[in-house]
Amino acid sequence: MSDIPDRISVREVGPRDGLQNEKPVPTQDKIELIDRLSATGIRRIEAVSFVRPQAIPQMADADEVWHGIERPDRVRYSALVPNLRGARRALDAGLPEIEVVVSASDTHNRKNVNRSTEESLDDIASVIDEAHQRGVTCQVIVATAWGCPYEGDVPVSRVVGVARRAVADGADSISFGDTTGMATPGRVWSLVGEFRSAYPDMPLNLHFHNTRGAGLANVLAALELGVTDFDASVGGLGGCPYAPGASGNIATEELVHMVADMGIETGVELDALIDAAADAERIVGRELPSQVLRAGPRTRTVH
Ligand code: ZN
Repeated sequence: MSDIPDRISVREVGPRDGLQNEKPVPTQDKIELIDRLSATGIRRIEAVSFVRPQAIPQMADADEVWHGIERPDRVRYSALVPNLRGARRALDAGLPEIEVVVSASDTHNRKNVNRSTEESLDDIASVIDEAHQRGVTCQVIVATAWGCPYEGDVPVSRVVGVARRAVADGADSISFGDTTGMATPGRVWSLVGEFRSAYPDMPLNLHFHNTRGAGLANVLAALELGVTDFDASVGGLGGCPYAPGASGNIATEELVHMVADMGIETGVELDALIDAAADAERIVGRELPSQVLRAGPRTRTVH
């Protein structure tokens, strides 16, 4: 238990990853949700993505959202970008941090962006350079890190190889994404263990999905290895594009609720977060999968 950190940093990805996988919602609702989240004490928010509006209409208003939100200094906002063109839009808009994504699975990468993993990594090298020239940090997200909907399991050596290339090209941090919820604690130990032995000090963020119910178990497995940076989505916003009706991201309030009772600091106010989750549910107009949103915190008593 000794490696379990006493503080973690949660990145709220509901406004981007979550809403990108829901029916489009009004710009003003997004702005209010982000402001509500930034008031919970959360320190990192993935706010928007700069993608082609024709490809992803849910994010067509990225500039308006970014310029419409309050941006308190205590919160670090980021945007996902698909390529150099998107990166330039994000940099022009004044984002302090960008994330760029590549799939460890070649087939998944080709289906997504019509090029090989290797070709995407070449592009990413120029995105990192451009970001650094403008004083902005760049995280490389390795998607399908625990498996691919087309190829099945992706070997740990391949995933670490993709991360290795990104680190060599100057990535400021790496994030492993469990795109389709195929991770289990054993697989978390093996990938994170392998990465950590190669890069003991490289900032590492993990992005789990609860598609098969193992989301928080995977977080616990990663905590045991000393990982401190996790993504989560308020209310569990977002779904799994490869499994209609299945849940996607782990819910932020479930993560905060669990670790708070383990004595791990997040800086997040749980009640305010649950209120934000209720808001998110209202905005998308469907019941969200978060169980802490349904049941409330464990200390809630019945009158
Ligand atoms: Zn996700």
